[in-house]
Amino acid sequence: MIKRPAFYIDMDACTGCKTCMIACIDKNDLPDNVLFRRVTEYAGGDWVRKSDGTYEQDVFAYYLSISCNHCENPICVRSCPTQAMHKDENGIVSVDHNKCVGCRYCEWGCPYSAPQYLSEKGKMGKCDLCRDYLAEGKEPACVSACPLRALEFGEYEDLVAKYGKLQVVAPLPDSSITLPNLLLTPNRNAQPAGSRAGKIRNPEEV
Ligand code: SF4
Ligand code: SF4
Repeated sequence: MIKRPAFYIDMDACTGCKTCMIACIDKNDLPDNVLFRRVTEYAGGDWVRKSDGTYEQDVFAYYLSISCNHCENPICVRSCPTQAMHKDENGIVSVDHNKCVGCRYCEWGCPYSAPQYLSEKGKMGKCDLCRDYLAEGKEPACVSACPLRALEFGEYEDLVAKYGKLQVVAPLPDSSITLPNLLLTPNRNAQPAGSRAGKIRNPEEV
């Protein structure tokens, strides 16, 4: 069993098709407006006047497919007053519905807004890495669904050895907050962490 499970995203391969998001909705039978994996569309740029009076554009756009990162310092766990949110011996952060009182403190604590409120149940829900699939030796639904093979799941150290240690580009939060088990190959247009050069273009979805 993987000790420190992590997601890897090849941002250059991702086309923003959202198949991963749909596969997650389907796997978890999610109601409307609840997303355990979301694909952020981040874009910016404008026309720029050059010294010779002509114009050129510097527009850019890229996508970030993000779910819970099963962080090493999970603020959601510390925010939960009933210990419903917990990290198990396999590194999976999940919600015990027998203990969850639906206060939503975990949602407010998480800088990735990963925990989602399930209004019909009055409880929180979130990515559990498709725990049942892992037990069967399969990959999480989002990973196997991606037609571009932009997502990978595995042991954190193995993914670092393959792809390096980059964990944040705009508009992701500072990785020192929760120590996410998330690794990235940046899109060629990716803006550095903290940059305000772009905007999230699908705020209703993320
Ligand atoms: S991404 Fe958010 S919900 Fe997931 S472990 Fe980290 S702090 Fe908790
Ligand atoms: S399925 Fe793959 S290519 Fe499509 S949005 Fe998700 S990560 Fe990107």
